[in-house]
Amino acid sequence: MPGPHGVPRADIIPLLREGLSDRAIGRTLHTNPKRVGRIRRELGLPEAARGTTLTREQAWATHTRPAGPDGEHLVWTGYHRAGTFPVLKYRSIDWSARRIAFEIEHGRPPVGRVLPSCDVPRCIRPACTTDEPMRQSDALYEQIFGAAA
Ligand SMILES: [Zn+2]
Repeated sequence: MPGPHGVPRADIIPLLREGLSDRAIGRTLHTNPKRVGRIRRELGLPEAARGTTLTREQAWATHTRPAGPDGEHLVWTGYHRAGTFPVLKYRSIDWSARRIAFEIEHGRPPVGRVLPSCDVPRCIRPACTTDEPMRQSDALYEQIFGAAA
C-alpha cells in the first residue's frame, strides 16, 4: 500500500481539475487531504464546492509547472499538438495554451504569434508572453535609443 506521500502529484492534479474536494481526492487516492489542499493552493485553484467547474484560466494553470533558474517561470505539462504546440483541451475545444497565457497577463487576445520574452526555453508564464506588435515596438525602441537604453 502506498504511504500518505506515495501518490504522485500527477495523479492528484487531474482530480483537482475535475472539481473534486480535497477530502474526496484523499479518499479516492488514499492520500492526505492536506497535501491535496497544498497542491490546490499552489495551482491557485478555488476550494471545491458542489457544482464547481474550473474556468479556462484555472484549467490552464493545472497544466503548468515552475521552471527556470529561480522557479519563477512556467512550462506546459499538458498536451502538445504535433509535439510542439501547447494545447489546452477545455470543454471539448482545443485552445492555444500560449494565447491563454497572453490573455491572462495582457487582458486582450494576442496578435500574431505568442513568444516568450525570457531565456527559459518554452516558457509559458503569462508575464513573459509577447505578441507581434509588442515585439515590433520593442525593436523600434532599440533602433531609436540603442539596445542599451
Ligand atoms: Zn519566462
